[in-house]
Amino acid sequence: MINLVLFGPPGAGKGTQAILLAKTFNLVHLSTGDLLRHEIAEKTDLGRLAAELIDKGELVPDEVVISMIESRLKKPRSTVGFIFDGFPRTVAQAQALDRLLTKHHSKVSVMLCLAVDKPELINRLLKRGLTSGRCDDLEAATIEHRIDVYNEKTAPIINYYESQGKYYPIQGLGSIEEISENLKQAVMRMSSKPISTLNQ
Ligand code: UDP
Ligand code: MG
Repeated sequence: MINLVLFGPPGAGKGTQAILLAKTFNLVHLSTGDLLRHEIAEKTDLGRLAAELIDKGELVPDEVVISMIESRLKKPRSTVGFIFDGFPRTVAQAQALDRLLTKHHSKVSVMLCLAVDKPELINRLLKRGLTSGRCDDLEAATIEHRIDVYNEKTAPIINYYESQGKYYPIQGLGSIEEISENLKQAVMRMSSKPISTLNQ
């Protein structure tokens, strides 16, 4: 199986690139942000809890997102693997993901980290806020807080994967096509196998 963790700060382009990578490698795209927004739209109890935290730019508790991922991994389906977008967001979540994948006789293949500087992230998110309908994209203060939370709680995950030889940084500035091509090359290089055998 190929299991990709697509990593990076808010606004780095994870969602856009995850969709393209999922197509290229035939992977199931799992975005915990999208799953949480779905819960919010459906007005579930979980959605109400999530909305409160998301609007403030805080993280939803580990156990909540871990169990969302656990139920998606349990679902029987024929896939060559998954692409995790916006998850894990803490080292505890990264450890939980390893445990869950081990149960399924699988593992994380590579962590691809999109690098974008802070002023560009803020620009992109404010621009997205004009059309996304997302409260957390509207104000510079909330966006800055999300970036601070990323630096404090999420960025330490880099060391976690680096120590396993799975960390792969990618320049996140450039055209969507260019970045997508670089990500694709990185997946193939990290697996050091030709694409035809990657799907086995
Ligand atoms: N979120 C979270 N845990 C997750 C995914 C999302 O707490 O696993 C929350 C968090 O408040 C985050 C927001 O949902 O700021 C939006 O997440 P998403 O990944 O969609 O945003 P992005 O970082 O891609 O802009
Ligand atoms: Mg996203």
